[in-house]
Amino acid sequence: MDAETTAAWIRHAADLIAADAERLTRLDAAIGDGDHGHNLDRGFTAAVAALPNGATPGKTLIAAGRAIVSKTGGASGPLYGTALRRAGKSFGDAGEIDAAALGAALRAALDGVRELGQAADGDKTMVDALAPAVTAYETALADGADLAACARAAAQGAAEGAEATVPMEARKGRASYLGPRSVGHLDPGAASTAVILQALADTV
Ligand code: ADP
Ligand code: MG
Ligand code: MG
Repeated sequence: MDAETTAAWIRHAADLIAADAERLTRLDAAIGDGDHGHNLDRGFTAAVAALPNGATPGKTLIAAGRAIVSKTGGASGPLYGTALRRAGKSFGDAGEIDAAALGAALRAALDGVRELGQAADGDKTMVDALAPAVTAYETALADGADLAACARAAAQGAAEGAEATVPMEARKGRASYLGPRSVGHLDPGAASTAVILQALADTV
């Protein structure tokens, strides 16, 4: 995965999020304040505009993450921005990212989200999609899968993790204000994490 592929991931994620913005916002309207899809659409549009020319994969993700932090409203902006910046830092100066390096970057992204948001597994947040995605990636890697197959495993793990948020009661973010009334709804941030990792799998 080179810088051009990294940029293509962010562009494809922006396209999928734009196409899905209404659904993500509807999910957030049910248990939050109904802005998640539009927040992310704005953030990823800014990320695409900020993509550097002739940079490394690391610099590409750091630029995207910085744009997302500054342009995405709500709790999810700093969390996704941190995730991308941490992943970018983990890439270092490498011009080409192999399967192990991408796995380490996804792990670094998860660590960043956990540190900033302090959400535990099962709190009904984006962590519940990102954590199983990272685990699935690492399992595939240990089984000898190549980068594309690892990314497909991560996307699958994220989709299953997102689906598993439905019966959870929210303990972080706005949805936690609803207490038990948050049960029975898909977490919007977990849903968007699945979209972003699907974009990765599609791209690589
Ligand atoms: P806001 O709630 O500020 O309007 P968004 O609607 O853009 O922000 O994002 C809401 C999503 O952010 C939630 O669905 C959840 O997945 C995620 N989220 C909120 N708080 C946290 C947290 N502390 N840790 C991890 N994810 C969180
Ligand atoms: Mg919201
Ligand atoms: Mg909001």
